[in-house]
Amino acid sequence: MTDSRIQILAEEVVSKIAAGEVVERPASVVKELVENSIDAGASSIEIEVRAAGVELIRIADNGEGMSPVELKMACSPHATSKLREIQDLEKIGTLGFRGEALSSISSVSQMNIISAQKTSSDGVSLYMESGEILKSRPAARTQGTTVEVKNLFYNVPARRKFLKKESTELAEIVNVTSKFILAFPDVEFKLRQAERNLLHAPKKMKVLERIGAVLGRSAADHMMSVSNTGDDYEVTGYVSSPSFTRRDRRGQIFFINGRNVRSKILSDAVYSAYAGLLERGQHASAVLFLTVSPSKIDVNVHPAKMEIKFENEKEIKQIVKNAIRSGFDRLKHENSRDEGLNALSIQKTEVMTEKAVREDSVTQPEFIYNLNEFVQKKPFQKETRSASAWEKPVFTADADIFQVALCYVVQIKQENIRIVDQHAAHERILYESFSKALKDSPIESQKLLFPARIDLAAKESVLMEKVIDQFNALGFSVELFGENSFIVQAVPAILKERDVKTVIMDILADLEGRAYSKNELGDEFIKLTSCRSAIKSGDKLSREEMRSLLDQLAGCDLPFTCPHGRPTTIEITPEELEKRFRRK
Ligand code: ADP
Ligand code: MG
Repeated sequence: MTDSRIQILAEEVVSKIAAGEVVERPASVVKELVENSIDAGASSIEIEVRAAGVELIRIADNGEGMSPVELKMACSPHATSKLREIQDLEKIGTLGFRGEALSSISSVSQMNIISAQKTSSDGVSLYMESGEILKSRPAARTQGTTVEVKNLFYNVPARRKFLKKESTELAEIVNVTSKFILAFPDVEFKLRQAERNLLHAPKKMKVLERIGAVLGRSAADHMMSVSNTGDDYEVTGYVSSPSFTRRDRRGQIFFINGRNVRSKILSDAVYSAYAGLLERGQHASAVLFLTVSPSKIDVNVHPAKMEIKFENEKEIKQIVKNAIRSGFDRLKHENSRDEGLNALSIQKTEVMTEKAVREDSVTQPEFIYNLNEFVQKKPFQKETRSASAWEKPVFTADADIFQVALCYVVQIKQENIRIVDQHAAHERILYESFSKALKDSPIESQKLLFPARIDLAAKESVLMEKVIDQFNALGFSVELFGENSFIVQAVPAILKERDVKTVIMDILADLEGRAYSKNELGDEFIKLTSCRSAIKSGDKLSREEMRSLLDQLAGCDLPFTCPHGRPTTIEITPEELEKRFRRK
């Protein structure tokens, strides 16, 4: 015993501590090993686990393999073939580069690797325990590498104790594998636990089909493709209809040069594209693939490489936002081209074609994802019905319209039944015209034949003085008229039918007790005004009014949802009816 309490740790202890950074749980082993297989150029990767990876993780690939010498090298700490000097990090094109995975994994398990290269007919097998090579012998194998990791953390009881229950660890393995399935559509993936197939993505399975397999079929059916290119960055991917949202953010999956990353910058960009389209607590899905020169990002800011730094955050945000926004525009455009014709719904043109291809393709997707407990527990909020979520509600003269329950405008459109929520639709219409009024085109104002006088309580009156400019910017003409009294001379022309006093009093009541900063007030005020001015549920509409409502909705930039994100329109297809009547 030495006197000092401070001791240099034994090498074995150091390596176990270091392993903790990379190897946190079975899923991290799967992640590191699959990354290696992909870096080795594999086109087929099979993953097998037992007891959620604690007993066994076996990953077999058909990549380039390693020579006996390379294999021995590969398992020592900081051994990598992917990087020579620190400058190489700036142009790293592989998923791995730290040279830590194999040595870390081997130090906390019993590991066997068999590898063979094309050139050598003889493969080699290497057996290690706690980071030490115990056996090495020739072994037969076709080209590629099989890594077997047994009894993970058998020598680190503390780690083992902290593992979650088996179903949780397995779910995480499914999750990690799913990300690879999305990122590498040219690679076949199989994931099995004992005799059970958990995931299978054959080679020919397309990205959208793979998204369907990971996020659910109906989620994929409500997605549209987006893309955009900037100076330094390029983005492609799929995003969800604003009316087909989730209560969590699990549908937001980002890849940068094939690497799955968490990114606040990217999810901020998604939310800004959906501004004014999502209900509170609802989240859009967006599976986005970014391509960028490695010199424009820093991938070495997180031990598991889950986070990334962008050189130009502003640019990347703008590119993602514009990609999504121009996706919305494209849909609108395609739809207006079809207007009046026997318009195929966007649903059909956008997504069905991909589906049709899917059905035609030789390889039926044989995706097996049958373990309910591992599939997302929460189903999508608005299953089915919002079938034509992307379709602009189109009014055709010959279509019959009627009102149901003093709330919905129903229209038979070819074979479909289209239902518009009169309040949500009108809110969207008003919201867009008020927003435009503030931006560029001043809104048309209508002078009242009999100006309305509004007498307020002292408190309301103070509030009114605060927001009087906001009212007037939207096309109202409100003036102070003696103490606590106001006179309304004009209203926005689109509101001429509404009862101006009620509208204004309702808005003031909503504003009361809420503190808005100047910035927030702008959009919030417009939303409130739209909501309070809109036709309500319970308002009887004439045929003319219904037509005009549908017409105006068709003219909106983003007609799919109200400003709070509720859908304006749902559509029931004959297929849906067939299902309901159990004809199918
Ligand atoms: P890194 O991936 O960061 O280089 P690893 O410890 O994961 O570090 O792997 C070390 C090296 O072993 C790799 O650089 C690669 O040359 C080799 N290697 C690992 N797994 C495979 C595999 N499945 N096929 C071929 N070579 C591999
Ligand atoms: Mg690696």
